[in-house]
Amino acid sequence: MTGIRVELSRRKLKLTRKKTKDPCPICYLTRPLCICDSIPTLDLNTRVCLIVHVNELKRSSNTGRLALRALVNSEMRVRGDTREALDLRDLLTHRYRTFLFYPAVDAVELNHELVAQTRTPIQLIVPDGTWRQARKVHSRHHELKDVPRVKISTPDSSKFHLRAQHRPEGMATLQAIAHGLGVIEGDLVKEQLMKLYDAKVERTLIGRGLLRGGVGFELEETR
Ligand SMILES: [Zn+2]
Repeated sequence: MTGIRVELSRRKLKLTRKKTKDPCPICYLTRPLCICDSIPTLDLNTRVCLIVHVNELKRSSNTGRLALRALVNSEMRVRGDTREALDLRDLLTHRYRTFLFYPAVDAVELNHELVAQTRTPIQLIVPDGTWRQARKVHSRHHELKDVPRVKISTPDSSKFHLRAQHRPEGMATLQAIAHGLGVIEGDLVKEQLMKLYDAKVERTLIGRGLLRGGVGFELEETR
């Protein structure tokens, strides 16, 4: 009888501990699994602007925050936190050739030919979050109606996913940015961002008890 009671109270303690865990505000992993020290610093000509819904920011599976932390030339605009619609007109400057990263019917492939058309640096406006949220940025922001839509057709080669519903390409935001910047800036940039993405996925799975590992877990290259 006593043994059972001890066991039960231990279980309770465990659950309580789990509840009060304190995730890192950037990678959203628990502190022992935090990957923020290994986030690369990439100072690129290409600018990335993430358009994120306020609800998406609360999700632990969000990867846009990691992209933002890695990319010096980037910013985030938050939708849905006030009643007034977000106005993105100021993003449309002559300093950049701006593209909206969204696979609309008239979207063109983001490839080397497109990049080589002019020497003006590129700005990628990236809707962060689910397909539904990305579609809203595409359809509701009329100030962006003349911004060319671009897409990538690279198949998603990841073994694991952080959530069922990703961006339209079937990728997480960080993956999509990695592939897009890979085309514009080169493979090294893509590899560094994909390594960060893989670290986020693997540590998330460890945190959920779905992969074996621990505090000293060494990440393995998955490609
Ligand atoms: Zn962290």
